[in-house]
Amino acid sequence: MKLTASHRRLIMDEAAAAYPAECCGLLVGTGSNVEGWTVTRVVPAANVAPPEPGHSIRDRFEVDPQTRFDLERELRGQPDAVIGHYHSHPDHPAEPSATDLAKAFEPSLIWIIASARAGEATGIAAFRLSNGAFEAIALEILDGE
Ligand SMILES: [Zn+2]
Repeated sequence: MKLTASHRRLIMDEAAAAYPAECCGLLVGTGSNVEGWTVTRVVPAANVAPPEPGHSIRDRFEVDPQTRFDLERELRGQPDAVIGHYHSHPDHPAEPSATDLAKAFEPSLIWIIASARAGEATGIAAFRLSNGAFEAIALEILDGE
């Protein structure tokens, strides 16, 4: 999957700004298969995961459904589509958590996870669901823009 350096920067900036909470947002892209997908837009969204007794906000995220609804409507009839989402892992690696797997009910979506430590984003990684488990996807970072 291809992503521009500025899109990666935006996701990492969001992860740093939200720290120690999780940021989240949507990925818009084009292409016919995962390897050929190119992210064309990164759309930050509010994290509307409700606080839950006994759970820290750190392992929960929920993309504002209104943002997705508005985006899907805007993209109707265009070649670009919502191909995935991103969120951050404050003080945890850029790897899917057990919570992520439990909430992964849209197998067609790409997951980008950004790690943030001590308020600084340290990197991102991409995953997709395959046979009920996450598998890493190679990210090709494009220069420019
Ligand atoms: Zn997660």
